[in-house]
Amino acid sequence: MSSDSSTPTDHATSAPLPLGSSIAIVGAGITGLSAAYYLQQQRPDLNISLLESTDTPGGILQTIERDDFLVELGPDMFTTRDNEAFELCRDLGIENQLISTNEDHRGAYILCHGKLCKMPLGWTMLTPTRMGAILKTPLLSWKGKLRVIAELFIPRKKIGDDESLASFTRRRLGQETLDRIIQPLISGIYTADPEKLSMQATLADFLAMERTGKGLIREGIKQLRRQASQESSTGARYGAFVAPQYGMQSIITALTDQLKPNTLKLRQKVKQLEFENDAWQLTIEQDTQEMTIQQFDRLLLTTSSQITGRLLRDVCPELSKLTTSIPLAGAAIVTMGYRFCDIDHPLDAFGVVVPQAENRPLIAISIASRKFTGRAPQDSVLFRIFAGGALQPELLQWDEEQLIESARQQLRELLGVHGKPIFTQVVRWENKMPQYHVGHVETVDKIELELSKTPNLEIAGNAYRGVGIPLCIRNAKSAVKRLIG
Ligand SMILES: Cc1cc2nc3c(=O)[nH]c(=O)nc-3n(C[C@H](O)[C@H](O)[C@H](O)COP(=O)(O)OP(=O)(O)OC[C@H]3O[C@@H](n4cnc5c(N)ncnc54)[C@H](O)[C@@H]3O)c2cc1C
Repeated sequence: MSSDSSTPTDHATSAPLPLGSSIAIVGAGITGLSAAYYLQQQRPDLNISLLESTDTPGGILQTIERDDFLVELGPDMFTTRDNEAFELCRDLGIENQLISTNEDHRGAYILCHGKLCKMPLGWTMLTPTRMGAILKTPLLSWKGKLRVIAELFIPRKKIGDDESLASFTRRRLGQETLDRIIQPLISGIYTADPEKLSMQATLADFLAMERTGKGLIREGIKQLRRQASQESSTGARYGAFVAPQYGMQSIITALTDQLKPNTLKLRQKVKQLEFENDAWQLTIEQDTQEMTIQQFDRLLLTTSSQITGRLLRDVCPELSKLTTSIPLAGAAIVTMGYRFCDIDHPLDAFGVVVPQAENRPLIAISIASRKFTGRAPQDSVLFRIFAGGALQPELLQWDEEQLIESARQQLRELLGVHGKPIFTQVVRWENKMPQYHVGHVETVDKIELELSKTPNLEIAGNAYRGVGIPLCIRNAKSAVKRLIG
């Protein structure tokens, strides 16, 4: 940073953005792309540069074809409960491409002492709702089952602080349920350590069931009834999870097609930020390794918490400290295609989740072609095996061969998958999953307070108010709103 540079807070201005101003958006994942799209829609006069360090837009949303299989390298669906991704697809004119998860084979297996057991009926996330199913499940001992039912009589916690998933589950449902059901189910989604995962940041609805409601079981039953009556009265067209028929990349293609020419700039890695004369100076490493300095009126960073922290270190030290305090984890995904004739198991579920207590080198197996149609040829099945996360970070250091060999062994032992796969594809997403630890909401409140004093700058992405695609889009939309005043 040069000696006469200043911080954006010194030049705070709340005036609306003048016509023809220039805006840099750093990172063309789903957050950056949707921010550019909504910004362009609301202010077509602006000069927007969407700067992406790699040679493809979309971040971890990438779809490829292998031997007539449709392979998602990253996310494979999104929820319609938070409606921003669905709305984006509608705005982009690709709503008619969305398909819901298959009606058949819904549900998941949980591994329990080496055996596959179905999730108890009526159990969603943290809410068991059917007493009969709880009593019958082989996942829990009698002591564990009675402890779950005792939830009906557990008083609410007096102090309303944030708490970890592990602490909350232990209090309400008991240690055995934490180890055998909740840890694999929930921390699989967040690739997280349940002892650290913040309830307030990730599962606030369940906290509310205790704090303002009548507990998990009673509130869960009430919710189920409400949902059933809503679905029958609205004739809901879509399930809770959907994906574009030809894969998640369709959203990225539709978004990039809508951007004005020269908005998206690939192979442009932002290396350094300075704030001078009321404007941002970005040092950008180009494809050719050449450095250029470009100037912009406003800046939106959609990079990971750690990269954002690094970029802001000299120019906004307080913000930098806060974003850097949000840690990241990663995951490796091994995708494989097999013929049904090489598989013993009926594959009557969307997948298998594996508790840490089972001590195996995987988080989960997704049976991708059971979830959505069009992912595999008729006689074949598509598996995605997830490994790593916050609890087994060492697996990300394994080389491709080790990951494939391990995935094949797990498929053989758990689902009776023999023979050679038709194809294998390995992808390693290092530092891609922000970890929402206890106190996360407070950290993000502080980040937003700092940002409110810094009108030339916005930050968005999966590190703040939700990791799911709809919440990234929501975060992008709020950043755009604040950016243009
Ligand atoms: C394995 C996995 C599976 C998931 N599955 C689902 C799912 O099924 N459904 C769901 O809703 N969510 C899922 N998620 C979460 C969701 O996909 C992500 O939270 C979301 O895609 C993040 O988007 P983003 O734009 O914020 O970040 P990213 O996709 O990480 O994009 C950031 C972009 O910034 C670029 N960049 C980085 N540094 C620079 C720089 N210096 N200069 C310029 N550009 C830079 C990167 O190259 C990247 O393109 C999953 C996440 C993971 C890791």
